[in-house]
Amino acid sequence: MKKVFNNMLLGYFLTVIGSLIILLFCFHTNKANSTQIKSNTKNIPIKRPSNLFNLEESADTIFNLIQKVGAKPVTNIQKTKLKKNETLSSALKRINFENDHISKIINTISELNKGPKILSSLPIGMIIHYSNPSSLVGGALKLNYTKTKDIFVWQDIKNNYKSQVFLRPSRTEETLIKGVIKNNLYISALESGIPENTLLEMISLLGFSVDFQREIRSGDSFEILFTKEIDTLSNLVIQTKPIKFVSMSLSGNKLNFFNYEDKYGLPQYYDENGKSSKRTLMKTPINGARLSSRYGNRKHPILGYTKMHRGLDFAAPSGTPIFAAGDGIIEKAGWNGSYGKYIRIRHTGTYKTAYAHLSGFHKNTRIGKRVLQGKIIGYVGTTGRSTGPHLHYEVIKNNFQINPMRIKLPAGKNISKSDINNYKNHVQKILNLKLALEKTNRNNKLATNNHNISKKLILN
Ligand SMILES: [Zn+2]
Repeated sequence: MKKVFNNMLLGYFLTVIGSLIILLFCFHTNKANSTQIKSNTKNIPIKRPSNLFNLEESADTIFNLIQKVGAKPVTNIQKTKLKKNETLSSALKRINFENDHISKIINTISELNKGPKILSSLPIGMIIHYSNPSSLVGGALKLNYTKTKDIFVWQDIKNNYKSQVFLRPSRTEETLIKGVIKNNLYISALESGIPENTLLEMISLLGFSVDFQREIRSGDSFEILFTKEIDTLSNLVIQTKPIKFVSMSLSGNKLNFFNYEDKYGLPQYYDENGKSSKRTLMKTPINGARLSSRYGNRKHPILGYTKMHRGLDFAAPSGTPIFAAGDGIIEKAGWNGSYGKYIRIRHTGTYKTAYAHLSGFHKNTRIGKRVLQGKIIGYVGTTGRSTGPHLHYEVIKNNFQINPMRIKLPAGKNISKSDINNYKNHVQKILNLKLALEKTNRNNKLATNNHNISKKLILN
């Protein structure tokens, strides 16, 4: 995971906020700052041409299924979960099904398309709804086999066991969430109803451009548009699709990124002009410093003779924060001879950056840890062979230092000229969708207000 926040804090949020998200989710549909539109396209049509995937729509309960297929009636539905190391047979035994019923149930499931495979791949924790058979009551099972499929088993009126796989119906909902940051993006975003995986996606795509440690101010705002797939029977979110649009307003500066799939169908993000969200390594991994020595031959200030200077020096007061020049893994953090206190980050297989003469390390800077571009890793100092406080910065390509001013890293590709019109049309479509969602949002708000007013009138 991208490490944007202090790990301990993150862990804390995950545990405390995690349960909150679930609650937020359940009660969020009417929240003022979130809009959801049911899209016209239902994911699973009820009737389809006959083929292997031609599955009927699931029923939400065994009772409804019994009505639908006209099975032997059931009276009492109970619930259990498939335990670790349990097969369906042993689970049925545990819940007091008799052996001949168990073997008939296993037989009917085996006869389904890919039945034996289904039986051997039932997930641990799978919810089993069941009705225990007796002379008057039908035996029945509902297995929540996958997020999208249920298996029903029932007894017909002649006491024969039947089974069938059903598709759970789902719908997609476009969701636009806007929020204002109170003091922490992470918390404010979760509070506004953004699912955690979508939030992490957002942080990682903005990570090339936003310095989350230093740039975020209270009052900054964000907008995010994404698609949810919702189980129509349970009303729970099955999954979220990649972010379509994200925007951040940072002290009045607006950053917008739009999803545009590459030729492999993978989501890539670009600004409104088609510039990739992925940035190269920073050339100046420090703020407000003066470039005091360039890359190349120079007379060494301590050794006195001409020596190749294989980095850049930035003069800055001791304690000035130093940033990771790009996303990567900390490969070295410690004393390194004449370099003094030293950090090296491995960014890709090819590129590394190094930072020398530090006064100290950031408390999260540890070997093996992942850092994000722009995150503080240490502080300017004058340790090692140094004449005064400065940062010595190196970019290392295939283990040789190169001139950081000349790096040409494979940043994300921008939209090509030949594709720019398609891209701009695509952007316009997303913006239109956003406008439609904003309108619905306002109408919903109005409806809620009117409802409250009429409630007041009735109460008075
Ligand atoms: Zn230097």
